[in-house]
Amino acid sequence: MNKLIVGNWKMYPTLSDSLVLAASLKRSLEDINGVEVVLAPPTAWLVPIAESWRHKPQHISLAAQNVWPNDQGAYTGEVSAYMLRNIVQYAIVGHSERREYAGEDNDLIHQKMQACLQWGIKPILCVGENKRMIDSEGVFDAYQLGKVVEQLLEGMNAVKKDNFDKVTVAYEPIFAIGTGEAATPEYTLRVITKLKEKLTDKFGEGPAGMVRFIYGGSVTTTNAAEYLRYPDIAGLLAGGISVKAQDFIKVCQIASKIS
Ligand code: PEP
Repeated sequence: MNKLIVGNWKMYPTLSDSLVLAASLKRSLEDINGVEVVLAPPTAWLVPIAESWRHKPQHISLAAQNVWPNDQGAYTGEVSAYMLRNIVQYAIVGHSERREYAGEDNDLIHQKMQACLQWGIKPILCVGENKRMIDSEGVFDAYQLGKVVEQLLEGMNAVKKDNFDKVTVAYEPIFAIGTGEAATPEYTLRVITKLKEKLTDKFGEGPAGMVRFIYGGSVTTTNAAEYLRYPDIAGLLAGGISVKAQDFIKVCQIASKIS
């Protein structure tokens, strides 16, 4: 299966930076094979970027960094999944920065998951622990693991089983986001395996097996291949390097060779 590479531009690039970056990525990645690329610019730049692309290759998509679950109404400052439905193909849901700075909880996040799926947007559900959940002896910390399992199962709560193939889970340990201290691929694999087991216990092997798990947290051009070589790590979510065109292109090229 093709690896998935997601670039979360966060609140970094201005409109003009975003148009230059989007044009450069599209030009360089238009003919790449064996990889699916998703770009998540700031919400305000989604339409100008979509309009600046005369055609969108099938394997390059746009994502919202966030959505609101209600379709329309008195929700000042928000943009709904319904409003974004013809603009983006994906949406990041429950990013740790939104959990922390906007106080998002699992209940709101599961409503966002439902709204995305209702309007044909594929959600990328972010989960991750505050403190390392595996110690130096290789033992899981029940509390940290439990928190992440809760994020996963509550996020997936009420997602219909025939929609599981549209869901991607981004395992993003908070200690690794923007710190340069990536979780090792072995650590990541152990956590993802554990999360897949929990998903299987709750929803059964068939549906659980449809959900893709990707890793995010200080991904670089140097460490990307180490994650991607594992079949159970279906791709990467990159923050910092996703606004550096050459680095992001390099990661996509690495993924393309491994797929
Ligand atoms: C992120 O924003 O989800 C992220 C993984 O950031 P970074 O790659 O900068 O750690």
